[in-house]
Amino acid sequence: MTFDLSIIVPLYNEEESIGPMHEAIRAAVQDLPGNVEIVFVDDGSRDRTFALADALPRHSGNVHLRLVKFRRNFGQTAAMAAGIEFARGRILITMDGDLQNDPADIPLFLAKIDEGYDLVVGWRHDRQDHWSRVIPSKIANWLIGKATGVPIKDNGCSLKAYRAELIKEIPLYAEMHRFIPAMSSLAGARIAEIKVRHHARRFGQSKYGFSRIYKVFLDLLAISTILGFHRQPMLAFAGLAAVATGLGFVSLGSALVYGMTPHDQPGIVFSGLTVLFGALAIFLMVLGLLSQLIYGTMARRFDPFRRLAARLIATEERTA
Ligand code: UDP
Ligand code: MG
Repeated sequence: MTFDLSIIVPLYNEEESIGPMHEAIRAAVQDLPGNVEIVFVDDGSRDRTFALADALPRHSGNVHLRLVKFRRNFGQTAAMAAGIEFARGRILITMDGDLQNDPADIPLFLAKIDEGYDLVVGWRHDRQDHWSRVIPSKIANWLIGKATGVPIKDNGCSLKAYRAELIKEIPLYAEMHRFIPAMSSLAGARIAEIKVRHHARRFGQSKYGFSRIYKVFLDLLAISTILGFHRQPMLAFAGLAAVATGLGFVSLGSALVYGMTPHDQPGIVFSGLTVLFGALAIFLMVLGLLSQLIYGTMARRFDPFRRLAARLIATEERTA
């Protein structure tokens, strides 16, 4: 059986939501032409989420249900990644399983993909979350835009649609699902952003606390490093090594000047600094060489963006 559309929903302790969620998705897609699969990924729930999902009908008209179950909680990004790997559709849609995203928005996403976009990102323009969530998220989106050069208003919105060949090539780990637009743009993907509805959580509670801010920040550092230096890692280290060398020479000069005067105390300090900066410069150069070596030997596997770019071009030729 071929599938036109796969809808991927990560679920962690969402026992009250899963029934209404399934029904809302079914209602939104049952009149679409072609086969649709819903992929529920149970991220190690400790409540009845999986049991309730398992009791749902596997087939109803053109809508098919598939379940993926993690033995323990791996996190939302891991659950999304597993669903993406399992999905068989030509177009993939991800969304939250707590009814905060609205399945009724799905057709808008499909229409945008039909217009020729590779990735469609939802924007929760009227977000129904507490300000303590909305404000950090606004700052994060601004930072992500600055760091990656891809200004997206709402990277954290799970409701997104992708061409399968795009999303299946993007490496997803940690909290990386927020950086899908940035990573896709590197491969030359066409990205559209559309307004979506957003509802307050009806059941259960958010699975995140303040630690998310810290994790997203770390991922931001990682992603800007990948985007900025992923071809020439040595360049960055060489720049830093040059600064250390410069400081080393300044110290050396100062040490020599003080060495010729009766004040030998500062001379000793500057000699120490010279050795320190010299060692730092060597250390940075070695790190640079190592990173270049790792990149050079791993480039084929390490550079998914190149493969992805080639795939996007191939798809374009096929559909043209
Ligand atoms: N989720 C998950 N694993 C986790 C945390 C969350 O699969 O470890 C799911 C959760 O069930 C929901 C979605 O990811 O479907 C978004 O989580 P949540 O609603 O808690 O995040 P928020 O809306 O507060 O950003
Ligand atoms: Mg939520």
